[in-house]
Amino acid sequence: MAKVVKFGGSSLADANQFKKAAEIIRADKSRRYIIPSAPGKRFGADVKVTDMLYACYDAVTEGGCALNEFRPIARRFDGIISDLGLAVSLDKEYDEIIKNFKSKSGRDYAASRGEYLNGIILANYLGYDFVDAAKAVRFDPHGAFDADLTDASLSMILGGYKQVVIPGFYGAKPCGEIKTFSRGGSDFTGSIVAKAVKAVLYENWTDVSGFLVADPRIVDNPEVIQTITYRELRELSYMGATVLHEEAIFPVREAKIPINIKNTNNPAASGTMIVPAAGEDPARVITGIAGKKNFSVIHIEKDEMNNEIGFLRRILTLFETEGVNFEHIPTGIDTMSIVVGSDVFEKHPRLPELIGKVARPGHMDIEHNLALIAVVGRGMRERRGTATRLFAALSHANINIRIIDQGSSELNIIIGVDENDFEQAIKVIYEMFMLAE
Ligand code: ASP
Repeated sequence: MAKVVKFGGSSLADANQFKKAAEIIRADKSRRYIIPSAPGKRFGADVKVTDMLYACYDAVTEGGCALNEFRPIARRFDGIISDLGLAVSLDKEYDEIIKNFKSKSGRDYAASRGEYLNGIILANYLGYDFVDAAKAVRFDPHGAFDADLTDASLSMILGGYKQVVIPGFYGAKPCGEIKTFSRGGSDFTGSIVAKAVKAVLYENWTDVSGFLVADPRIVDNPEVIQTITYRELRELSYMGATVLHEEAIFPVREAKIPINIKNTNNPAASGTMIVPAAGEDPARVITGIAGKKNFSVIHIEKDEMNNEIGFLRRILTLFETEGVNFEHIPTGIDTMSIVVGSDVFEKHPRLPELIGKVARPGHMDIEHNLALIAVVGRGMRERRGTATRLFAALSHANINIRIIDQGSSELNIIIGVDENDFEQAIKVIYEMFMLAE
């Protein structure tokens, strides 16, 4: 009955945060596998150690003095060590890192040292063993993450430990070269470790008490989401809700291990539970609302489009050969619309002309400045009138809906509105479903 426990950068930013994390770990014996991030920001204008490492490495490779550039980073770690009253010294590690920076060991190696050094300190403070992620997290020679090999080596190596700290964010290629995941990737490490050790729970400790129903910059004091399914979360994070690394849900989802998002600064708060499937009918129709600006719609009209075999295929083939990603394709009888990110036209300025060539539409126009909003909730499936309430709320607020798209899973309704209406639309949807119920 083991738990995997990951602490984000703000949860390990200084000695005080280390103490909170250690108290949390010691409060539950099943918290056996600990994944630290590098020290994050201690205050708003502070710099994350990962960013310091990237900058230091760049400065060294451009001819800067390695020792001088590295000194502020060493000071951050030494500060934590002395404030915790530990006897450990990282001087040998610093020498090694500086030597490797000089011999151009790579930006990934540089960035990974934040998690590595923090892991050594945390293991020392807790009295846990330390396992270098480079020994167990595997990438192939081209730098692609090797899930199967990692799963096998993590479970074999970690199986030999009772209580262990393994740093997040990086692993190694077969030749030993260090490779990192994308930014925020310690979340992903937590997830692959949870899968490998068959954990009962993956706790992800951060500085918020879970996912919020809506963006707090738009809605005042939005409620915390108590329970969310992996699929709902995927819809919301795709649309811009961020707390967890986008890919972190996949390994645990496969293994059906729930994730609990918790707040290191408020451990009593229950946080958000991310679960494979929530059995009971939820109290709320809506689980969350998220959205993004900067979309455009290509409207295509052609008489008897519905009778023309291969029309859609020709357009989609064009998108594929041009390497253009699209978001949605709402269709009518003789019309279709393709929603794309607005930046598509900078990268592919000839796209409209090429569509004209392959599809020969009767009419085509492009609308810009569209915002998409995803209203997500597994509760929609069982209840009538959700769309009516959604559209009534927007209509009362005088907001014109330009696109409507309901996912086939009946888990979400996506609407497109003018970018100027984006914030107001989210507010009125929140009020309709969260405050009026
Ligand atoms: N330290 C890395 C970053 O800042 C990875 C992480 O914190 O998950 O992106």
